[in-house]
Amino acid sequence: MKYVFGPVFSRRLGFSLGVDLVPYKVCSMDCLYCEVGKTSEKTTSRLEYVPLDSVKSELGEFLKASPDIDFITFSGYGEPTLYSKLGELVDFLKENYSYRLALLTNSSLLYRDDVLEEVKKIDVVLPSLDAATQSTFEKINRPVEGLKLEQLVEGIERLIKETPCEVWVETLFVKGVNDSPEEVEKIGEIIHQLKPHKWQLNTVVRPPAYSVKGLSLLELEKIKERVGYPSTEIVAGFKREKRKMGALELKNEVYGIVVRRPCPIDEIASALGVSEEEVERAVSLLIEEGKVREIFFGGTPYVKGIV
Ligand code: SF4
Repeated sequence: MKYVFGPVFSRRLGFSLGVDLVPYKVCSMDCLYCEVGKTSEKTTSRLEYVPLDSVKSELGEFLKASPDIDFITFSGYGEPTLYSKLGELVDFLKENYSYRLALLTNSSLLYRDDVLEEVKKIDVVLPSLDAATQSTFEKINRPVEGLKLEQLVEGIERLIKETPCEVWVETLFVKGVNDSPEEVEKIGEIIHQLKPHKWQLNTVVRPPAYSVKGLSLLELEKIKERVGYPSTEIVAGFKREKRKMGALELKNEVYGIVVRRPCPIDEIASALGVSEEEVERAVSLLIEEGKVREIFFGGTPYVKGIV
């Protein structure tokens, strides 16, 4: 499959079927911490980057087996709201299936009427807000020229007030970039004003696009305590029941996960419901075929797909 991947384990959404709506690596930002890689095309142009009919037919093919998943998630290589057919795809899924839909977005286009209209039927929207000042925003998210932090805040506010979507705002903290007491306090003020259904704290836990470091769990706990927003959670993982999978299928599934973001062996095993030994065997084959390589981040080995 070209546009549909997974289901993959996501720390925030459980087991979700991912849908890629923009090619590698089209985005309106070039975040220091991006797990996908450096942005090669920084844009706010909304286009049909991938053919809608092909996406629909891949989804139809996958969903005919009625898989047990928590969400169908628009995410992947770049910013999904750049996809001009997002609204049509949401309508297609809502009319034909009963799966819950989720959108991971960097919030850059949510202030626009057309985008808001297209995302309003999505069950859970997870917009990012990593800064409280324009200078920190530019430092951490490296947005397309002219994009203002106020536009992101306005977009999230409109999403909360004008749509029935459940809104889980994520702030990803990067050591020495957006974790100063002043920035944290101001981010906290914005969160208290916005009142999202959840505020999720995250940090750099996978190999990032640029050389940056994350915060410890203790540091995130302190931020949570200092801001004191009632529905705050620090993102955490869990495991699923074991399942049987053929060697070829497993190898393809492993590649489908790590080509989108680097993963440690145990997380791949957890995502796919197989043992770590089975994943290790699949990874060895993929290394032999030149399709993946092992990299280290924070002392932990990750498997990274070669695009
Ligand atoms: S983290 Fe998201 S918003 Fe930032 S560069 Fe990567 S894909 Fe774009």
